Amino acid sequence: MVNVTLGRTGITVNRNGFGALPIQRVSTEEAVKLLRKAYDSGINFFDSAKVYTDSEYKIGLALSDVREKIIISTKTMSTTVEGFWRDLENSLTTLKTDYIDIYQFHNPSFCPKPNDGTGLYEAMLEAKKQGKIRFIGITNHRLSIAEEAVLSGLYDTLQFPFSYLADKKDENLVKLCKEKNIGYICMKALSGGLITRSDVAYAYLSEFENTLPIWGVQRENELDEFISYIENPPIMTAEIKDYIENERKELVGEFCRGCGYCMPCPAGIEINNCARMSLLLRRSPAEGHLSEEGQAKMKKIEDCIECGNCKAHCPYGLDTPNLLKRNYEDYKTFLVKEVSKE
Ligand code: SF4
Ligand code: SF4
Repeated sequence: MVNVTLGRTGITVNRNGFGALPIQRVSTEEAVKLLRKAYDSGINFFDSAKVYTDSEYKIGLALSDVREKIIISTKTMSTTVEGFWRDLENSLTTLKTDYIDIYQFHNPSFCPKPNDGTGLYEAMLEAKKQGKIRFIGITNHRLSIAEEAVLSGLYDTLQFPFSYLADKKDENLVKLCKEKNIGYICMKALSGGLITRSDVAYAYLSEFENTLPIWGVQRENELDEFISYIENPPIMTAEIKDYIENERKELVGEFCRGCGYCMPCPAGIEINNCARMSLLLRRSPAEGHLSEEGQAKMKKIEDCIECGNCKAHCPYGLDTPNLLKRNYEDYKTFLVKEVSKE
């Protein structure tokens, strides 16, 4: 069994964290079953967020009797002090607990600091003083904000996307966290569906022993895969190294990594998924992407106002507006083919 210590928090948990975003898409009964199975099998870190609809409620329902034995991290997106307290009290109630181990600012557009005029960081300190939270964390999709947070010394943990498709800058951020003794919670280790072999994802992350991946779990077979890694953690082998090399070659150039650095989009386009739809359709189950909801998300590309904001912020130098258009054209063709098969 491999454990990870989250930097200066001293929190030590199994290397397979449970990302509780997808359980909002399954029934309460199914979610409780998954959460309980995860816990019974040795998973002891659960990450949720106020905005993941009923995810916190399902965690509370499934695990409140073993509260002391697990670590819960959750998040607030609030930009006001009033909202911060409302979210925190709400999370405590729905999680059926009187403390949260790691309370995180959820992807803020700036790095909250004391005396920045928002009062948000002061609210975190007060919540800590009151014993409602143990540690202060931040999640982000933007490298500059993540770096600022780590260098500020104000945060105990950082949650950031990281996978074998990441580049050197992202690897350096992981190393910086290690140097500064900040816990690194790793989201999108499967790059939002682009990575299809979780053993390879796990093995790559094992090379960075300070990272704690939180796997988004929705189905029992996915959970079983991660549970199997508790006893038999995948390690880097020559075969896996070759596989990663090939993947990197296949996914070179004009492809979107789904990092979200370019978001938000003023036209409401979900760029981090829409700009790589061609890959998602062919590398992950296509049904969800072709659903009515999926179609509506892609149709939003028609609303692009060509502001250029995404292109300016893409660290991979992608011509994002054109990439979106190309993905949209391919999507429509793919959809027609699928419908004609029915
Ligand atoms: S160029 Fe289009 S897709 Fe990019 S941020 Fe502006 S509106 Fe959104
Ligand atoms: S377009 Fe660029 S910045 Fe936006 S999600 Fe894709 S890779 Fe990231």
